Amino acid sequence: MEWPDALDRLAYVRDHGIDQFIEMWKRSKALERNDDLLWGDELEYSILKIDDQKAQISLRGPEIRDALAEKEAAHAYRTEGCAWHPEYGRWMVEGTPSRPYGGYAADLCRVERNMRLRRRRLLTQLKEDEICPTLVTFPGFGVGDFVADCALELKGPVANSASVPDAVIHPHPRFATLTKNIRARRGGENVKATPPRYIDVNTPSDAPAIIEGLDAMAYGMGACCVQVTFQARDSTEARYCYDQLAALAPVMLALTAASPCWRGTLAATDARWDIISASVDDRTPAEDGRGASSPNDQLAGSGVRPLPRSRYSSISRYAFECDGPAGQVRRFCDVDAPMDEEAYDKLKNAGVDEALSRHVAHLFVRDPLVLFEGLVEEVDDSTATDHFDNLQSTNWNTVRLKPPTGLGVTATSSSTEGEPGWRTEFRPMEVQLTDFENAAFSVFTVLVTRVILAFDLSLYVPLSRVDANMRRAHRMGAATQEKFYFRRQLAPNEASESQKFKNCCGGEDDDVFEEMTCREIIDGKGDYFPGLAPLAYAYLDHVGCDGEELRKLSSYIELVRKKASGEAVTGASWIRSFVTSHPDYNQDSIVSDKISRDLAVAAHEVGLGSKPAPELTGGEVVRPITTSGAWDTRLSADKIPTKEERRALLARYARRGPFEGASEPQE
Ligand code: ADP
Ligand code: MG
Ligand code: MG
Ligand code: MG
Repeated sequence: MEWPDALDRLAYVRDHGIDQFIEMWKRSKALERNDDLLWGDELEYSILKIDDQKAQISLRGPEIRDALAEKEAAHAYRTEGCAWHPEYGRWMVEGTPSRPYGGYAADLCRVERNMRLRRRRLLTQLKEDEICPTLVTFPGFGVGDFVADCALELKGPVANSASVPDAVIHPHPRFATLTKNIRARRGGENVKATPPRYIDVNTPSDAPAIIEGLDAMAYGMGACCVQVTFQARDSTEARYCYDQLAALAPVMLALTAASPCWRGTLAATDARWDIISASVDDRTPAEDGRGASSPNDQLAGSGVRPLPRSRYSSISRYAFECDGPAGQVRRFCDVDAPMDEEAYDKLKNAGVDEALSRHVAHLFVRDPLVLFEGLVEEVDDSTATDHFDNLQSTNWNTVRLKPPTGLGVTATSSSTEGEPGWRTEFRPMEVQLTDFENAAFSVFTVLVTRVILAFDLSLYVPLSRVDANMRRAHRMGAATQEKFYFRRQLAPNEASESQKFKNCCGGEDDDVFEEMTCREIIDGKGDYFPGLAPLAYAYLDHVGCDGEELRKLSSYIELVRKKASGEAVTGASWIRSFVTSHPDYNQDSIVSDKISRDLAVAAHEVGLGSKPAPELTGGEVVRPITTSGAWDTRLSADKIPTKEERRALLARYARRGPFEGASEPQE
């Protein structure tokens, strides 16, 4: 629905979204499922087309996704498979494991194998002149004629961008509508991201301080990340993990930072987050304070309620309800978190606890952005959660609390079997060039959640400090140079020893947290802060992990340690030095077409293991990935169609001895 048509129905969706959440909450309470750990990652890939001189984005993403989905369906009998999802960019695809991983150490060892299988399978769908690197951004995006096989029609009706044609947006109507309506809700103005320019010795002194022209949602939503979702036992555990991971998010953003170039220019930042945040910012001038706008009763908060953040942001509230002395977790919620009062009252009256009511009412200060005709009043609030999901899926925070699905039919547990329960999604990390790194960070995240639960730890710091950490995480070299506010007192104190999740706070702020480098956070500090890596090892010991599994998991923990110490460089440092040491680089901040092209090719080769990059992987060698072994070879009994074919085949092998040319064994 176009924005003018949607306006009338926004209130309906907001209102019924809350009803749907309440229905879901009541059922989930009644079920008490005590779910197993299931989890999965998501990786995003860019499809680029190359020649000797330049690389361009290839708009074959949807076509490739469909072809992959079809092949996966034919391989569904295999345990290890992949699932392919559409992404905002028409040049992107997203891959996940076909089934979530389970809660065993062996599952942690499946991750890299599955990621490698994804890359291998994706490779089979590329044309000769295409590549699929896991780069956060292609540096040439938005520069000149950067879209392959497509007329450069600028200022299109959807994004109205002066550099990016509408054709780069995935053709599903959801994505264009999202783009259009964000712009409409802002008051017709284009979105605008403003990464600071990196000033090099030859950068002209009158060059703008920012990189200009990032005027389309695609600049942000086209940035690729790695996300991890895992299932908790119940809502309490999911909410507790949500909070801990929100506090950890900036540290993991810094360690995985891999986006130092935007629109053909080196930036003075390493990470993507703020750029996406600006690129999907739908706030009206009155909401974000850039000017005045007149109230419109159809919009959430009449479109004039001050909103300190974009809908793509770090969190504004912790979600865990601590039933200890009043104010325990709440006192760490020290940033402005506006909420929709009506939604809040409704939630409270329905018996939803304070913290969750506030969490949901905060999500509902936004408007739904994409409505489909026939799917508004028609949705049954007692069985569906579409309207809740609408708001939830466009509140893009560093963490997301995903409620159970499939509670629609009846409130008996049998109807929800196989349906996901309460999950927490960790969203800050930038995609890494190699699957070894992507697996390491995904596995490390899962281990940290296990550590937190097993040792009953708390990472709470005030959210104002988490915000400060997010700003620091963007800075160049933050992984090794910045300090982050981090909880120094992780373990339960005497008073809370007997009960789980009672270690939310306690102590004065000065005692509870302090500034630490990533290295201290990962490796430990003094005799009071053990460090996340030693805790992960202790946990693996506790659960009895050993042998080959322990060796593999250690290699992941060690990589994270090396990223934090600088022994392995971040993707951002690697890309930055690739650019600055390229013979065509003029020390003027400009990343030319040729440099972008060479970088993209190098990134692709590093991902495939055909170009070594031990500085990125901390010395780990990436075993080469080729198309070989991507798909199963069926032992067909169908008759070879023609006599000629049969003869030719036989003739070819009749003269040969034992088979030569068998390829390397696959994993
Ligand atoms: P979204 O894009 O909404 O975050 P995706 O479906 O792309 O969701 O990815 C979700 C991830 O969660 C996938 O890796 C998937 O394997 C994983 N997953 C699926 N079911 C469960 C579950 N019950 N618990 C935890 N993770 C799950
Ligand atoms: Mg996804
Ligand atoms: Mg995605
Ligand atoms: Mg996701």
